Amino acid sequence: MSSSTVGAQHRFIAIKEVQNRVPRKFDPPRDESGKRLKISEFYGQNTFDTQRLKEKLPKDVFKKLISTIQTGSKLELEVANAVAQAVKEWALLKGVTHYTHWFQPQTGLTAEKHDAFVTMEDGGRVLEKFSGSQLVQSEPDASSFPSGGMRTTFEARGYAAWDPSSPMFIMDGPGSKTLCIPSIFISYHGDALDEKTGLLRSMDVISKKVTELLHLLGEKDVLRVVPTLGIEQEYFLIDRAFYTMRPDLLMSGRTLVGGQPPKGQQLEDHYFGSIPARVLAFMSESEHELYKLGVPIKTRHNEVAPSQFESAPIFEEANIATDHNQIVMEVLKKVGIRHGFQTLLHEKPFAGVNGSGKHNNWSMQIESNNLDLHGENLLEPGKTPHENLRFLLVLAGILKGVHKHAGVLRASIASSGNDHRLGANEAPPAIISMFLGEMLTKIMNDIEAGNIAEGGSAEKAVLSLGLDKLPEVLKDNTDRNRTSPFAFTGNKFEFRAVGSSANTAFPVTAVNAAVADGISMVIDLLKSKGIKGGTDNAKIFEVLKEVAKETKAIRFEGNGYSEEWVTEAKSRGLLNLRKSPEALKELTQKGAIELFTKLNIFSEAELHSRFHVRLERYIKNMQIEVDCLKQMFDTQILPAAYIYHGVLAKAAADAKAVGVKPPQISTLNRLSDLIEGAKAKRSNLDDFSSKAEATHDEFKKSEMYATNVAEVMLGLRELCDEMESIISDDFWPLPKYREMLFIS
Ligand code: ADP
Ligand code: MG
Repeated sequence: MSSSTVGAQHRFIAIKEVQNRVPRKFDPPRDESGKRLKISEFYGQNTFDTQRLKEKLPKDVFKKLISTIQTGSKLELEVANAVAQAVKEWALLKGVTHYTHWFQPQTGLTAEKHDAFVTMEDGGRVLEKFSGSQLVQSEPDASSFPSGGMRTTFEARGYAAWDPSSPMFIMDGPGSKTLCIPSIFISYHGDALDEKTGLLRSMDVISKKVTELLHLLGEKDVLRVVPTLGIEQEYFLIDRAFYTMRPDLLMSGRTLVGGQPPKGQQLEDHYFGSIPARVLAFMSESEHELYKLGVPIKTRHNEVAPSQFESAPIFEEANIATDHNQIVMEVLKKVGIRHGFQTLLHEKPFAGVNGSGKHNNWSMQIESNNLDLHGENLLEPGKTPHENLRFLLVLAGILKGVHKHAGVLRASIASSGNDHRLGANEAPPAIISMFLGEMLTKIMNDIEAGNIAEGGSAEKAVLSLGLDKLPEVLKDNTDRNRTSPFAFTGNKFEFRAVGSSANTAFPVTAVNAAVADGISMVIDLLKSKGIKGGTDNAKIFEVLKEVAKETKAIRFEGNGYSEEWVTEAKSRGLLNLRKSPEALKELTQKGAIELFTKLNIFSEAELHSRFHVRLERYIKNMQIEVDCLKQMFDTQILPAAYIYHGVLAKAAADAKAVGVKPPQISTLNRLSDLIEGAKAKRSNLDDFSSKAEATHDEFKKSEMYATNVAEVMLGLRELCDEMESIISDDFWPLPKYREMLFIS
């Protein structure tokens, strides 16, 4: 008998280690008597939120600050100074030593550069100081962030500027506490270098457009409209002992090889199952960290795939929800390590097992001094005929926007990770369509067919459509479609196609922009019919009818995973952009440029930079995966195959020598074929990737990675996975799917 290889021995040690793990004790915060604190008793203790600002600032300064936040007016230095003073005092009391402008460059991650609060006075005395101008702006040495060609190195200056609409918070690290100041990141000329600037601009634009629509309908009390966002985050947890033995997970976040386990998710026994103790301990501690930071986590559960989980917050204003989701991702990773877990945020860490998404629940809320109106959800069909007409017009704007700008929405979620998920019959397809549900579909069809009560009374029309029953019907949880990328779920849309690792700022910017444009078109239609003040219901229904007809192609209620839908969508003229390069190209098209420039969300250069940065990131991710696969094949998989091949060959020769027909021959032959086949693919991979690398045109290069290179990677993987299925377990160096996904 041959003994095992060193690689396999390490694997066995890892398995032992994982089996012996006990849940990390997490001691929840308690009061002096030892009683566990309620969440509400420590929630937000590390965030300088509106409530805290109100307590610490003089009344008039607080008022000015709120007005700046709400209207986007210029921040006065006097206000900035007062806030800086207040936040410094609060932070110092909490043991904070440093501050940082926390921003979101186009890497999909967050960036921070810490500065101590200290200044040197005359005479060498050191004092803690923090001024308004330090709060408002800093100049990180940011020449290494991707700018998509907007910021040449000789003019490398980028500025981080405080975004007062998102609360400051304290990041608690080992032995160090840092005040994080949510910021945007812009060039010397004011170009958006980050993810947040565009989002804030788009929120402003959609607010103006929808407010204009509501004023046109007679709702003069509406001051502003705020997009709201609730972000469901899916992720996998893998034990660190396995993780560190998988170069592919370490380098690219996903497994590039790995045979299927005998049991996957087919039993559907994981979804909403009982949460394993170790995971529950991790979740409790993560949530505790998040509550301290004022992130309102509400829901936790097992997801469909083994070792897959989800965390979802209560919705907030879109910009705050976006910041909070970045914090959620960071905390899940950080706390995971404390529990011996690696949190995988990749869209598709394991082939053949469901990937992870980040469902963006999106709606819009009214701000008004009229308390009856304030806080109303524009996607909540209401109690009165007027509210329901308003709902239908907003819906019409969304239909228009998504129909016209489906390509932009598709581009906004493009990434190498998401390519494995979209269209893999487990996540919404790459084809953008909208699901409205049975009742709302019937209403749109009736409107289109003109099946509404004549006579112009809103009451009559609403009753004849059955609109008055809408609120109850829409609460019905069964009328859901999980195969739709953009689904109406009763009082909000769920943009389900966003990838789990993505920064949601850009997808939400795209939705805001598309809808703002759609609402603009609806306003034009209403105006062209002479509507002022929203009294003429017959004319409103004419507009709705036009929109229903024109946007019909984008509505789809069926199974988005089916092959028939692909054919059907094609006949409807809908885009099916399966891979990132073709999807990203939509950002360079006339429609996209017009959309963003007309609304002043991005200049043409800024938009081009989004395209360029994303294309570049796609190429880099592919390069990393290719190099990693080559290394794993050359130094781990092929050697294991050779060793096992040698063992079989030796045993066969021995058998022959004693006159026995060697039983190893068939396996030996199969393994020989696999080795030869895999070596051929390996050399194809070299050829294709070198060709791609030699291509100077970035777009062509990305296309080569998306086609030739991706295909040959898959081909090589299939052969490696078959090798895994015949090579002795004693020789296999890589933790297997069954081990990573099922041992807990
Ligand atoms: P569902 O109705 O889909 O079963 P929930 O009501 O729990 O699930 O909502 C899922 C997510 O949608 C949560 O993060 C929730 O906060 C968010 N959500 C609910 N209402 C809104 C809204 N008006 N705007 C944005 N997000 C919302
Ligand atoms: Mg969901």
